[in-house]
Amino acid sequence: MPYFHFMIRCFLLLLLFASCAGPRRAAQAPSFADNPVVAHRGAFKKNGFPENSIAALREAIRLGCTGSEFDVRMSADDSLIINHDPHYAKLDVEQSTFAQLAATPLSNGEPLPTLRQYLTEGLRQNRATRLVLEIKPSPAGAERGRRIADKVVALVKEMKAEPMVVYISFDYGIVKRVLELAPQAPVQYLNGDKSPTQLRADGVGGLDYHFSVFKLHPEWIASAKQQGLILNAWTVNDRPTMQALLDSGFHFITTNEPELLLELSRVRGE
Ligand code: MG
Repeated sequence: MPYFHFMIRCFLLLLLFASCAGPRRAAQAPSFADNPVVAHRGAFKKNGFPENSIAALREAIRLGCTGSEFDVRMSADDSLIINHDPHYAKLDVEQSTFAQLAATPLSNGEPLPTLRQYLTEGLRQNRATRLVLEIKPSPAGAERGRRIADKVVALVKEMKAEPMVVYISFDYGIVKRVLELAPQAPVQYLNGDKSPTQLRADGVGGLDYHFSVFKLHPEWIASAKQQGLILNAWTVNDRPTMQALLDSGFHFITTNEPELLLELSRVRGE
């Protein structure tokens, strides 16, 4: 009989442990910062960090931005790296091996980040800052662009980064491919040449256009909202344009000046 009581006690302890573990699991779900600030290529400018560096990503997370944007390209030997331009250290990214590219560190001494390293850092102690992942169109054409999208989405899934990632691209083929592979993923189109109605018809969840596009098509703001699309604008670095977009109720504003936009959006929230 004592043995029976012992087993009952163990069972109750297990139940207690399970109920304590529950909230901890829930705490790991994203809890995105309540502001519209997406740091463009990370929060790099104020502290002189290199664009697209892990230092710039960590700073965006430290500031509490709701998103930190970065650019993904693929080397000749199919390594996914974080870099904006088609060239890095005077090498053509798509014509060079990862070893050739990585031979040159970033200007702050950081190694050239891979997408795996970037996501690892973006998932570490961060549930507030979305990882806004731009898949760059391939200079080699649509077929390779599609292959890059396949590899990116596979890695995001493998690393269980999906809840934290927003995909963006100028290439409509890449946007559609991401949606085929990850139909539930938040995806925003960048190129500014499709109306909210067209995007909605194709199942694209948002538009992230240069702010001048919304001056040419002011009706797209109301149209996007009516159709439940996410509104984002790039790259907004001056106070008046930030104010105008905040007034228009944009969900996100992508900026090289995240500190200023955080301040403006905080003042409005008070
Ligand atoms: Mg970008």
